[in-house]
Amino acid sequence: MSEESVCKYQEITMIARDGATAWTCSACGETWFLPNGTTPQENNMNYCPNCGRKIGKYIPLRIDTEENVE
Ligand SMILES: [Zn+2]
Repeated sequence: MSEESVCKYQEITMIARDGATAWTCSACGETWFLPNGTTPQENNMNYCPNCGRKIGKYIPLRIDTEENVE
């Protein structure tokens, strides 16, 4: 299996939706809103519904604690 058949799903924050989180595909860029902050894994999304690539990695949103004091 080549790497091109695998994608990553990254959790992002949608400012326009009151900071609700969504998951976006690294390969096709499709964005999915999942209910109640669940992960793609919890919704049995093993493959991207849009491009069909296998989801090889899930990258949850990193909650930064505004400590970037320079
Ligand atoms: Zn995709």
